Amino acid sequence: MRVGLGYDIHRLIGGKSFRLGGILIPCDKGPVGHSDGDCLYHAVTEALLGAAGLGDIGHYFPDTDARWKGADSAVFIRETVALLQKRGFQIGNIDANLLLESPRLSPHLEKMRGNLSELLAIPIERINLKARRGEGVDAVGKGDAVVCQVIALLTEK
Ligand code: MG
Repeated sequence: MRVGLGYDIHRLIGGKSFRLGGILIPCDKGPVGHSDGDCLYHAVTEALLGAAGLGDIGHYFPDTDARWKGADSAVFIRETVALLQKRGFQIGNIDANLLLESPRLSPHLEKMRGNLSELLAIPIERINLKARRGEGVDAVGKGDAVVCQVIALLTEK
């Protein structure tokens, strides 16, 4: 068994649409990013690459590459899952913290789990998402950032 830790942070500014876990969520701010800025998908990708010992998201999907400009971040997960399959890894489970001050994410968590279940090709029961607020402190608490922390377990065939 192998574990990997994923982390991502995106600055939030006005006039941008907000996507998280593949869902467009009504919000007065959105993430600054080269791709669609989906913080959860980026952190999941990092956790999977980490568990497999394959480096990080910037190595495979650099933000200097025009191919990823405005990209649907689901592609990063799909390509990473294909890499893992090629190397004989299976995904055990995913657990994540989603840190955002507003809006509340709880109404969207089931849909996000469904999206991840499909992308990772694992049962939804193996995906756990926890939404937290920043209690008015730090960049999350002040509404200036979204942060996602993800841990992934892989098994080797
Ligand atoms: Mg990112």
